[in-house]
Amino acid sequence: HLDLSRAIRTAAVRVPEKPALVCDRGTLTYRQLTTRMDRVGSAAVRQWGLRAGDVVAVIAPNRLEYLEVVAGLSDRGVVVATLNPRMAAPELSVILADCQPRAVLIDPALDDLAETVRAAGVPLIAFGPAYDALLREAVVPSGLPVVPEWASFSLCYTSGTTGAPKGVMLSHRSRALMVLAMGVEYGCFGMDDRFLALAPLYHGAGFVFAVAALSFGGTCLLFNASDPEAIVRRIAEGDVTGVFMVPTHFKRIFDLPERAFAGLADRHRLKAVISNAAALPQRFKEATCAHFGSGLLHETYGSTEGGIVTNIRPADIMDKPGSVGTPFIHMEVAVRREDGTLCAPGEIGELFCRGPYSFNGYLNRPSETAETLRDGWVTVQDLAHVDGDGFITIDGRKKDMVVSGGVNIYPVEIEAVIARQPGVAEVAVVGLPDPEWGERLHAFIVPESGRPVSEAGVLSACRENLAGYKVPRGMTFMDALPRNTSGKLLKRTLREGITTQP
Ligand code: ATP
Repeated sequence: HLDLSRAIRTAAVRVPEKPALVCDRGTLTYRQLTTRMDRVGSAAVRQWGLRAGDVVAVIAPNRLEYLEVVAGLSDRGVVVATLNPRMAAPELSVILADCQPRAVLIDPALDDLAETVRAAGVPLIAFGPAYDALLREAVVPSGLPVVPEWASFSLCYTSGTTGAPKGVMLSHRSRALMVLAMGVEYGCFGMDDRFLALAPLYHGAGFVFAVAALSFGGTCLLFNASDPEAIVRRIAEGDVTGVFMVPTHFKRIFDLPERAFAGLADRHRLKAVISNAAALPQRFKEATCAHFGSGLLHETYGSTEGGIVTNIRPADIMDKPGSVGTPFIHMEVAVRREDGTLCAPGEIGELFCRGPYSFNGYLNRPSETAETLRDGWVTVQDLAHVDGDGFITIDGRKKDMVVSGGVNIYPVEIEAVIARQPGVAEVAVVGLPDPEWGERLHAFIVPESGRPVSEAGVLSACRENLAGYKVPRGMTFMDALPRNTSGKLLKRTLREGITTQP
């Protein structure tokens, strides 16, 4: 029987007095953490009358109580929906109607969202005095039920980059196995390690990285700061051994002036820096090596549905620019043509993965589940190719592929050419509707501050390096590209913005 809470409980037997969770409001030792898990689980069953299979939603930033709620409720078979505290009230209404939670636990600062929960008639408990009282009054149980390992552990909503958010059902077994593999792969999850959890816990990746820190008896440092200087200062304190960041964190950190990194190389004790959620541009890989040292950086590719699919390790990351590495432990990857046959090395196709970390399906969406989960293989419609050494590169999402004059065009190829031009900080290429060609290419460019970008220069670089039909027909300069909270580029927003312009 595999489950995540069991790993935390084992660690608690081995190192009961060790800090498990640390945040600016306090610390919980392993003993305290498991006691609180027991109490919240017991309150859920006895006071709220919840049963296995019921859903409870948590809406909060990274706070000390977050993981005890997920682990304590999952011990009782209750499924926790981890919701984005930054979503707008109408988005929350859609999700509440979808997952029908029996109760919602919410951060006291989220007034608007709390109002939406009340309006939906769902019982609400705010973290703070009400929640603390609940825990105090709870009777600690003498034993826990056995929850089937294939049952849903949590419900994680996709960020909605490509459509409406979908509730991804993740099993106890998938999470437990993935965390074990992470312990082996990243080398920063031992008993003496301290992991800096910056990424939001409501997101699938942020959550598993934080739990990995607890599963082996290490310490998880919860950090909510979006201030990049505070992140660097925290790492320079010299006790953090691992950190997971999305590309937006890397960008903000490496936009800091040089003096922010003074002395860092000698002071930090990092063993691993892990990037995930979107492609990490080469210049941030170089900056990581320059400021933190080489031999630390991993880039992981995965999805909420498939789990961690690939990882490129520090030893290979600079030799294989643009690659996300080889399959993760226990993961099979296949890149297929439209007809289902396997692509040859270098040929772009749709990436399928199969392994123990994949999801159980989407809640209430049988047809989307059937599209995504086929005979045990998961596809979230990412495009990819594999090189002769077995290294995988992601070539964008199928929905962003442009078909112009009947020919497939992969925007990443054009983006790579434009990104190399002087003064270009960021670029995104999309297809816009065109009466003659079906779609035509348009580039959105963010110039580096203070460095003008020449439109003619960009065009001539494209003409030199790309076939004529891949040269963008139009260009827009802007201050920033639209991204969601995990750093994913919102191409849909770019397309809609320009097609609705007068
Ligand atoms: P939705 O399905 O609603 O659009 P989402 O796909 O943004 O939501 P996630 O599961 O968080 O939700 O994101 C997974 C996607 O992120 C992958 O399918 C892939 O496109 C992208 N991704 C993740 N890691 C990487 C990486 N290292 N390089 C490139 N792309 C990545």
